Amino acid sequence: MSHGPALDREAFRDLARAALELADGHLGGVRERAVFQPMKPDERRRLLDQRLPDEGRAPRAILELFRDAVLPHAMGNGHPRFFGWVNSPPAPLGVVADFLAAAMNPSCAGGDHAAIYLERAAVRWLMELIGFPTTGSMGLLVSGASVASIVGLAAARQHAATAHGWDIRADGLQGARPRLRLYVSPEGHGCLRKAAELLGLGASAIRTIPVGARFEMDVAALRDAIAADRRAGDLPFCVAASAGTVGTGAIDPLTAIADLCERERLWLHVDGAYGARAVLAGSEAARVAGMERVDSLALDPHKWLSVPAECGAILIRDGALLRDTFSLVPPYLRTEEGKGFGGLPWFSEYGVQQTRGFRALKLWMVLQHLGRAGIAAMIERHIALARHLAQLVDAAPDFELLAPSSLSIVAFRYVPDALRGDATRLDDLNRRVMEQVQSEGEAFLTNTLVNGRFALRACVLHDATTEADLAALVEIVRRAGAQALRVI
Ligand SMILES: *Cc1c(COP(=O)(O)O)cnc(C)c1O
Repeated sequence: MSHGPALDREAFRDLARAALELADGHLGGVRERAVFQPMKPDERRRLLDQRLPDEGRAPRAILELFRDAVLPHAMGNGHPRFFGWVNSPPAPLGVVADFLAAAMNPSCAGGDHAAIYLERAAVRWLMELIGFPTTGSMGLLVSGASVASIVGLAAARQHAATAHGWDIRADGLQGARPRLRLYVSPEGHGCLRKAAELLGLGASAIRTIPVGARFEMDVAALRDAIAADRRAGDLPFCVAASAGTVGTGAIDPLTAIADLCERERLWLHVDGAYGARAVLAGSEAARVAGMERVDSLALDPHKWLSVPAECGAILIRDGALLRDTFSLVPPYLRTEEGKGFGGLPWFSEYGVQQTRGFRALKLWMVLQHLGRAGIAAMIERHIALARHLAQLVDAAPDFELLAPSSLSIVAFRYVPDALRGDATRLDDLNRRVMEQVQSEGEAFLTNTLVNGRFALRACVLHDATTEADLAALVEIVRRAGAQALRVI
């Protein structure tokens, strides 16, 4: 037995070939399998209760265990009939990229190696795709929009504090300071609240601004709330708007909000985790106009671009401010482009992480493979499919749309005549429908709350999803609904 994890080259190649067979079978055979297979209690137990072996095991045996006990129980998001949450299938090139990235295994904290330049380039491509300024700005890859929100709101907090002469990095939010106020709609993602809590603002610093009929932030109400907070002596500092909410795909009126933020000198953060790239779809571009004006923007390539998880990005208009928010490197030790050894300023000066993985490789490969036109076509196609589903739902007498279809999301429910008007039982019925559809494995959807009502929610993100899959989804839901109706 050798010491350490090394393999001889022949063994490595054998294992990699076996892994390739497994990955190929998994990706290639996805249509033929159930979308999702709930695990049986003993299958869960087998994974949960395993014991770490005292003596090392042969890699082959480990791969076999993976094949038998892990691979068959995927989450389901590789399947063209998976419509749950906002989880896309993996782009095959991204799968290959993750293998190669692990083989190189750099730390992307910083330095003068290829991964750093690739991340700079891939992030610039993201900026260019959505029209975000590329000079003076900064962006970096993070695990996802949750961390992107923490980074973006930390910069917003830094900005507000500096403007008022506080050294927030030294003092935190301790002491007698005016209360910082953050504005979010009730449709805003929970990660915004999490970020506010972590940054010491407290959830009570959040003003929840109501939405209109399309679930978009009411700008007049926002203006009033800011004015009321100023009168009360609080310090409004940031609006966190959404470009594509996770519930219904709603897009807050970004141009009007950007105008207001400019007048009020507030930081504008946009959660575009899912929807930001809708700017590429001709049909939606007007709705996301204004994104080029925001101060910070979260965008998840692991959502609507099929880059394998995790791959999120935070883009900040004022790159120097972002560095001031996080850098612990004294100015005389900082690396600067063209000055001394060490390459570009380190990513670790701009965010939370020190050691950082090579997320850029999969993003760089997938973006190149699709090209700008390919990305736009994919987005347009998914939006068209969602509209098609919305039409099917609208045309069916026993279904109803609960929100206007926006981007690639449709929120709807099954409404049999017998229960029409019975809000409680309709909620209960549709919850059962969702659970049954999920466990049957012919399709997969999840839920959201729309005006307090339980909604089935389908999000189209798969390149192989067809109109026939959507027709099938409606039939599958109807069948599950008829069954559930008999037992409630
Ligand atoms: C997924 C999502 C988030 C959270 O992002 P993670 O990548 O899961 O950290 C935030 N906002 C929206 C709109 C999302 O779709």
